Amino acid sequence: MKRYMALIIVLVFMVVIIIPAAVVHLLRLPGTGVRVELGGPSIKVLFHETGQIREVPLEQYLVGVVAAEMPAEFELEALKAQAVASRTYVLKKVMLGTPNPHHPEADVCTNPAHCQGWVSTDEMQKRWGLWRYIGYKEKMDMAVFATRNMVISYQGQLIDPVYHSNAGGRTENSEDVWKYKIPYLRSVDSPWDKEAPRLQNVTSYTLEEVDRKLGTSLAAQPVAKLTGPKAPALQVTSYSATGRIKEVRITGKPFTGNDLRRLLGLNSTNLTWEVKDGRLVFTTVGNGHGVGMSQYGANGMAKEGKDFRQILAHYYTGTQITQYGK
Ligand SMILES: [Zn+2]
Repeated sequence: MKRYMALIIVLVFMVVIIIPAAVVHLLRLPGTGVRVELGGPSIKVLFHETGQIREVPLEQYLVGVVAAEMPAEFELEALKAQAVASRTYVLKKVMLGTPNPHHPEADVCTNPAHCQGWVSTDEMQKRWGLWRYIGYKEKMDMAVFATRNMVISYQGQLIDPVYHSNAGGRTENSEDVWKYKIPYLRSVDSPWDKEAPRLQNVTSYTLEEVDRKLGTSLAAQPVAKLTGPKAPALQVTSYSATGRIKEVRITGKPFTGNDLRRLLGLNSTNLTWEVKDGRLVFTTVGNGHGVGMSQYGANGMAKEGKDFRQILAHYYTGTQITQYGK
């Protein structure tokens, strides 16, 4: 009986771990179906975890970017839209010609807070597990391969293809979040966002914590000055056209909505707050700056049968898909 048990354990181990590992290894990773040639021009990438700079074929690098920047369970057309946006982002940096002040030796880095995220195939296997890896990796390869060389242009120039997780129902005009009015970064409807999980988020801090993060003096204010929409100590001085906070004044100190979001680590500037038991409770809708493509919106459009061209045309007003290098 014991021998049978041992045999069963060995068999289960082989089926669950060894065989899929062997399959993946034999296929040398790019999934099971089409063997894709992912080449393109080489770019210099700074791998921020090791500090190493390596030359990598652009299209191959993009597979790791799409895997890092968008959930793998998203629809293929949404992943394709992400691949085109990410390719445009990189090539715009390469073509700029001026060295990046943060890493003059490299075109891009793998730090998502600075350039775009990137994951290795090893990391993908860890994140997804071996079974899901086989399907997801193929999907990533397909998203990049099916859109190879495609970029987004506006009047013959590569665009700045900014994107975010979830706009909460409507994207934002560029000038309402940053300083500049960019013709292709216009506010558009994004109703698909509302179907996304974790649309709303609640974060709370004590008044002292907020003061420390913002350099304000909320804890010293009488409670009456903190409550209500016109609370003198916590006043929104302007909203964007879509109802996001554009500017706010906290105990006399002005902040842009974007700075407030960054300093307090909030998901979005589509936010409200209340004072409860000595704490400031913030409720946000959506996730990210809200400009350009909403990734959840892209996935919602794909689920409705829209392709990546329609997705990109929707979120980047008046742009075209063109072939890089032609
Ligand atoms: Zn960078």
